[in-house]
Amino acid sequence: MNERPDGYGWIEVIAGSMFSGKSEELIRRLRRAKIARQKIVAFKPRIDDRYDDDDIVSHDDRRVESHRIDTAEEILDYVDDETQVVGIDEGQFLGPKLPEVCEELANRGVRVIVAGLDQDYLGRPFEPMPALLAIAEYITKTLAVCMKCGRPANRTQRIIASRERVVVGAGEAYEARCRHCWNPEEASEDHAEPDGRAMRRRARERESSGRGAEDDARGGRDVSEGDREIEFDERKQPIKAESKGERSGP
Ligand SMILES: [Zn+2]
Repeated sequence: MNERPDGYGWIEVIAGSMFSGKSEELIRRLRRAKIARQKIVAFKPRIDDRYDDDDIVSHDDRRVESHRIDTAEEILDYVDDETQVVGIDEGQFLGPKLPEVCEELANRGVRVIVAGLDQDYLGRPFEPMPALLAIAEYITKTLAVCMKCGRPANRTQRIIASRERVVVGAGEAYEARCRHCWNPEEASEDHAEPDGRAMRRRARERESSGRGAEDDARGGRDVSEGDREIEFDERKQPIKAESKGERSGP
């Protein structure tokens, strides 16, 4: 019973924009496996050390215990011959080896489930998710609801001015948008927020991080493409009535 049939593993990918329910769907699948008494092990990237919660958490506060890792290679250290299901959240932050690691696990007979952003805020494929989509047996594209017009949304709109690929600790810096309402230019200028919310937020961030006035003059911190990408952890944001629902996203 519940033996792992050798060679019968596979890869499932849950991909979509922020606020599309990726973590929720990952947790749902992991819980179903748990109910069937399968041995599961879950992972998420160590991207934001301000919080020490190790669980994968969805907006409705369902959670699954997980290990925090920096790169996909570390997953192999936690998987033994008994492991039947491996769950991975925020796959886009686990580095270029993620597809290779998932492939190896699936070949060993493990069911591998990976949730992650398929696009960044500029609509570019968010590596290594595209490569993973190519080799996966099953793909679920999750859609959010466009926060402007209410159509199905598969894009992440940044609503503050920043050129970092990911803004740390800022679930409220993003909205789900449909193809029609999405506009990457909004993220490049302060005009995205004429009421000055972005400036006030940066002021708060500077206070807490101790950054100086020079950053302000430049309109915030710039991180070049080659730098290590930092993840924000929107799931830690308090849910507000007017806000977008999902706390876990890109
Ligand atoms: Zn729309």
